[in-house]
Amino acid sequence: MPHVTMERVIIVGGGIVGLTTAHALLKRGMDVLVLDAGPDSVTPSRGNAGQIAPGHPPIPSPAVPPQALQMLLDRRSPLFIPPRPSLPLTRWLVSFRLACRDRHYHNSMVTLGAMSAFSRDGFDALIEDLEANSTLTASGITDFWLTKQGEAEAEAELVWMEKLGFATTYLSGGELRARDPVWGETVRGAIVHEAGMTVDPACLCDELRRSICSLGGQVLQARSVTSLQQDHDSWSVATACGESHKADKLLVAAGVWSSPLARQLGVTVQMQPAKGYHTMLAMPQPPIMAGVLREAKIAVTPLGGRVRLAGTLELSGFNHRLDRARLEQLRRGAAAFLPGAASAQAGEPWCGLRPCTASGLPIVGRAAHNSWIATGHGMMGLTLATGTAAIITADMLGETIPSWAKPLQPKARR
Ligand SMILES: Cc1cc2nc3c(=O)[nH]c(=O)nc-3n(C[C@H](O)[C@H](O)[C@H](O)COP(=O)(O)OP(=O)(O)OC[C@H]3O[C@@H](n4cnc5c(N)ncnc54)[C@H](O)[C@@H]3O)c2cc1C
Repeated sequence: MPHVTMERVIIVGGGIVGLTTAHALLKRGMDVLVLDAGPDSVTPSRGNAGQIAPGHPPIPSPAVPPQALQMLLDRRSPLFIPPRPSLPLTRWLVSFRLACRDRHYHNSMVTLGAMSAFSRDGFDALIEDLEANSTLTASGITDFWLTKQGEAEAEAELVWMEKLGFATTYLSGGELRARDPVWGETVRGAIVHEAGMTVDPACLCDELRRSICSLGGQVLQARSVTSLQQDHDSWSVATACGESHKADKLLVAAGVWSSPLARQLGVTVQMQPAKGYHTMLAMPQPPIMAGVLREAKIAVTPLGGRVRLAGTLELSGFNHRLDRARLEQLRRGAAAFLPGAASAQAGEPWCGLRPCTASGLPIVGRAAHNSWIATGHGMMGLTLATGTAAIITADMLGETIPSWAKPLQPKARR
């Protein structure tokens, strides 16, 4: 028998993107080592809203510029940009403004729609692989609204969902309350996006890590990668604790911390950390249905007998400061839809940094010689994780990648 040497892949970053990719590569027979700077409870992959929401629109959209002044000045606004002197932020905002144009929004919806449908199929396969106690639930994600304007916006998105081929169910306020009585009389209607799923994101990361180890892979924590060097046909990866690891192939998937590593691969990644918060409520009667409160821009997810409220998008730089006023806004916004949220006991608040590109599209593809990058998933890292893993795996194995993935390719550094 000829001796077969498995190619070793190092993945920098053990968030949801790095872990799903490690899992996919191991299933295809690669030897995988994940190096992660954690354990880190602030990583967004562990504290996100847990919604897999195919067809979710990108952040830059034609609706954003008219609200720009409010975002700059009102700290209770869901999207808040406290003014601060920062050249990278200014550059990012200029690119973001260009990405709010109709044509870019249209193209992004098509790309993200295809990618999220592909990813949704990937989750079906993943459920079968993970242990029986997986918290993945295919219960749909619902869009709830209070006002006529909210209804009009939801209907405009419904047109997109139909174009992209996702099934939906329209519910009047009465029909909604017949299904799930905790929703207030103020909620005028809702649309269930049937392809949506929920999951406890921290459990999913833990299950993936276990599965990676049982497939023969390794996840090393407390390994902050500091340098990436090409060495003939291989890569040398150095960590802050003084280790050096060798790989045939390399993937950088370090969330919002990817930019300096991407530079070492000859790629420019223009990202801003977009802070989001969550709080867990213990409601005597929690909702059954998960979804998004349209006017308040808050995600509501029943998780383990409690309810996670997640939201706010704050461009205030690399920090994990919790703004109590914004946290309180989560509960106040939710109480307008779910009266029981007003008096429910709240658990320890959390915040994390989403990796947001100005274009609203993730960066997924090949960089320098035998190296890849997968980051910039913004509000959709969980939703797009298995699709990202499939693209990177196919490309590493020399297989054809779907044509809709072309706009996600990284840009060479100028
Ligand atoms: C409040 C909130 C709610 C959200 N809700 C949803 C949702 O419902 N659905 C959805 O699809 N998305 C949601 N998101 C977005 C989603 O959480 C992110 O897009 C996703 O977690 C990004 O995953 P990632 O693996 O790219 O990055 P991360 O989760 O940031 O993981 C990166 C990992 O890399 C490690 N790392 C960093 N630097 C280094 C280094 N130098 N060396 C080694 N390791 C390093 C970090 O420790 C971390 O573990 C939400 C985000 C927030 C904040």
